[in-house]
Amino acid sequence: MNNGNNIAFLDLIGPHQELEKELVAVFQKALRTGAFVGGSMVEEFERSFADFCETRFAVGLNSGTDALRFALMAAGVGEGCSVVTVANTFIATTEAISQAGALPEFVDVDERTYNMDAEKLREFLEQQCSVDHNGKLISRRTNRVVAAVIPVHLYGQCADMDAIQELAERYNLVLIEDACQAHGAEYFSKRENRWKKAGSIGKAAAFSFYPGKNLGACGEGGAVTTDDEELAKKIRMIRDHGQAKKYYHDMEGYNGRLDSVQAGILNIKLKHLPNWNQSRRERARKYNELFAELDTNAVMPDEPSWSKGVYHLYVVQVENREAVQSALTNENIGTGIHYPIPLHLQKAYTRLGYRRGDLPVSENAAQRILSLPMYPGISEADQVRVVEALAQTVKGAVVQRLTNVSA
Ligand SMILES: *Cc1c(COP(=O)(O)O)cnc(C)c1O
Repeated sequence: MNNGNNIAFLDLIGPHQELEKELVAVFQKALRTGAFVGGSMVEEFERSFADFCETRFAVGLNSGTDALRFALMAAGVGEGCSVVTVANTFIATTEAISQAGALPEFVDVDERTYNMDAEKLREFLEQQCSVDHNGKLISRRTNRVVAAVIPVHLYGQCADMDAIQELAERYNLVLIEDACQAHGAEYFSKRENRWKKAGSIGKAAAFSFYPGKNLGACGEGGAVTTDDEELAKKIRMIRDHGQAKKYYHDMEGYNGRLDSVQAGILNIKLKHLPNWNQSRRERARKYNELFAELDTNAVMPDEPSWSKGVYHLYVVQVENREAVQSALTNENIGTGIHYPIPLHLQKAYTRLGYRRGDLPVSENAAQRILSLPMYPGISEADQVRVVEALAQTVKGAVVQRLTNVSA
């Protein structure tokens, strides 16, 4: 039996109720001007999102998936190329690679941060690739030109970008950030001796505004950020059927635009994002304190000194994950697993030929990770209930194991 109300995994209602008048006014504005696709609300949002990310340009798109795909295409990554990324991410990362015409290849992650392990990337580039007679870096596994690398800033925390950027420069790889979970996250670059915003580090970055993201639309949305004017221009063309002006098509493109109603909504919500992210950081700190007080054996998230994460998700590791998750479900506490099967072991990618054991850190994490309720303003009382419920199950498991040993 449960002893309390629902504790939701995330809150898609509260922030919209608070902002309801302003959000409805956006729709009214669209109705009265007839500007449904493109127009001033999209341009305003692109300006303010670029400012927020500290980049020169932001291009509004219909999704994070297309943001990744268009960034690759605009950077010339496609047929005959392979793109290095991680396996513990949402499949959109690799769908975008395949849809651009390239092939995904995986390197393992750091066991504390769950993000791309730069040492593993170095090993891959040094030991599993060779340089051909044209001076191109060829992956021996796929026989393709290694053209790009996509680190994912998973759970709202930046990957260790200095090390990755250095390798990308040395091997002439296009560096694209998957920042779909990291709106507002920051990374301290030792190379530049300053904090940098997620989305401002690589050649381009992809953001998603799917409703559950830290900055979410009331529908679908995405964006590419970049300092590269040519790249931004190309992506504007790709999102709009390859046209530079109406009905003059320099190439085939896609229908990948951002709605103006979504752009107007995003612009209003963007003003609150710094506070929301701050609240997520405080709630994460509270979880850390609570976990430290109760002896749970759960592995808490790690935030290195060079990182300011925005806790899109608060993820712990537990040994008996299935039992812990069902105990929390019985207590009406929402949880998630991000993600239960690493991409290299998904049915969709059997054709890539990876096997269990190829990426041990990702595979081990996938068995143990559990995402706990996290959203701006989650109450301390709810967090206490979550941690207590978790502690009971985990402790139970420890007691049981000890009993077995002595028996
Ligand atoms: C959400 C997400 C995407 C895809 O974004 P959509 O807007 O849903 O297409 C890509 N990568 C990661 C890591 C994501 O979390």
